[in-house]
Amino acid sequence: MSTRSVLVINAGSSSVKYQLVHPDTGESYAKGLIERIGLPRGAVHHTVGGTTHQLTVVVPDHAAAMSLLTQAFAEHGPDLSEVDLVAVGHRVVHGGADFADPTLITPAVLTTVEQLVPLAPLHNPGNLQGIVAAQESFPDVPQVAIFDTAFHQTMPPEASTYAVPAAWRNQYRVRRYGFHGTSHAYVSRRVAELMGRPVEEVRTVVLHVGNGASATAVDGGRSVDTSMGLTPLEGLVMGTRGGDLDPGLPGHLARVAGMTIEDYDRALSKESGLLGLTGSTDFRELHARRDAGDTDAELAFGVVGHRLIRYAGAFAAVLGGVDAIVFTAGVGENNPELRARVLDRLGFLGLRVDAGANEATVRGAEGRITTEDSAVQAWVVPTNEEWEIARQAADVVER
Ligand code: ADP
Repeated sequence: MSTRSVLVINAGSSSVKYQLVHPDTGESYAKGLIERIGLPRGAVHHTVGGTTHQLTVVVPDHAAAMSLLTQAFAEHGPDLSEVDLVAVGHRVVHGGADFADPTLITPAVLTTVEQLVPLAPLHNPGNLQGIVAAQESFPDVPQVAIFDTAFHQTMPPEASTYAVPAAWRNQYRVRRYGFHGTSHAYVSRRVAELMGRPVEEVRTVVLHVGNGASATAVDGGRSVDTSMGLTPLEGLVMGTRGGDLDPGLPGHLARVAGMTIEDYDRALSKESGLLGLTGSTDFRELHARRDAGDTDAELAFGVVGHRLIRYAGAFAAVLGGVDAIVFTAGVGENNPELRARVLDRLGFLGLRVDAGANEATVRGAEGRITTEDSAVQAWVVPTNEEWEIARQAADVVER
């Protein structure tokens, strides 16, 4: 195999996800997951040609994970020495205001990403460990960082600025950054293609609803507003995150419950959202319980839908009108009922749901879910962050 490919790496603190992708076609040659790094019992899952090969093994650190990755390719294919590996593309969560584009990794870039750790303490350290390990394993291949925040650097100051004291903004970089940028970039470009219109002319509201969830207003291919802010906690209701809250809440809980910042951070990132409302993070379970008449599940469905309606409506106004509403990620791609709940409420925009198409567009299907005469189109576009990372990484190297 001498096809061009990019090794896409998404390294977290205790796992490394990877995929070998053709940057132009998005074809995936192999993918895998190395999990429980640094824990007593780790595992490797390498999928190629529809078969998953599993190995239970101790993975002490990210360097060991990267050796296991190369070993998995050597044993099960494709043979990396026969692949035209043009780049390793790394997903990096926080690029702050420093990175608006995919960036070739140099020692200076690594230093900057390290300086951004206070903005993403749960994510950037794992991303960095992955980069360092990949540099050791693939010393001759250019390494490129693709930042989750980069796509949103086009937001105008009125959208990215919090109305807080100047010292917070100037000394602590407090502002809105936004996340899921790779997904929003891919989906907004893809929907313009599907609509047969130049991306520069299309105004889109992208609703990325998975375990994490965010909405973005995209004007002519540029992000002009997004629901996540300084951290990925703001905005929509998610699996374990509650999204928008009254900023007075931490003070209130500190006074009435003696809660510390640590308690509060943990509860808001790990114990809220669907989990807080229903005891489960899984939207499929919520769906089944709702069908069975469970009132918590009904309320959660309503809260999730209501927040989506708010953002979709607000972003249509921010854009001064909208051409397409697009659903993506696990829930967005698979839950016609939630989509209908949101879209029916947007009927005042002249949007008409095609009920049959909405029901049928699930499990990876791509398609329009509004009628021919609908004034605003709605689409389901399965996200493909790996392809987007591969494409951007190859662009940087071959530019
Ligand atoms: P992540 O943010 O972790 O990438 P995903 O985009 O995979 O998350 O979304 C995970 C969510 O998608 C879960 O709540 C899961 O229940 C939901 N989901 C996955 N498949 C379906 C389905 N067939 N029907 C409804 N929800 C689904």
